[in-house]
Amino acid sequence: MNYSFTNKVEYASYNLGVFLCTTCVGIHRSMGTHISQTRHLRVDRWLDENQIIFMEQHGNEVSNAHYERYLPDCYRRPDGCAPAVLLEQFIRAKYEREEFLEPARQVGYMASTKSGHLMKRGRDAAKFEIRRFELSEATNTLSYYVKEVSW
Ligand SMILES: [Zn+2]
Repeated sequence: MNYSFTNKVEYASYNLGVFLCTTCVGIHRSMGTHISQTRHLRVDRWLDENQIIFMEQHGNEVSNAHYERYLPDCYRRPDGCAPAVLLEQFIRAKYEREEFLEPARQVGYMASTKSGHLMKRGRDAAKFEIRRFELSEATNTLSYYVKEVSW
């Protein structure tokens, strides 16, 4: 991605102040111009001097210091070799949902418990059944419930 330069860096997002490779610019464009306004560094014309000044004053390091300010320690930042689907998840979390601007937006990563449903094979039956599970950081356990009460 932006640091590793595995792909050619040929684009910029002039409202976010970051330089982008050919993979990331596609993801930026898919989010829409209300999130990221992109332009090719050489092919497109840069007529607005304020956009050039903004790029000079920002760049990936400065912009990332802002947009990744509260990147959780547990979060594995995808690099340029990461599958596009992981890059997209990261880029959308970072710019569209702005999850790393405020710890309060990271409930999903930082919560001390996580519950959901999983398919568990019954003890005497060959078929799988839906069971609720709960992961708890406090007790460091995974529990699942034999009887499903209700959804
Ligand atoms: Zn990239």
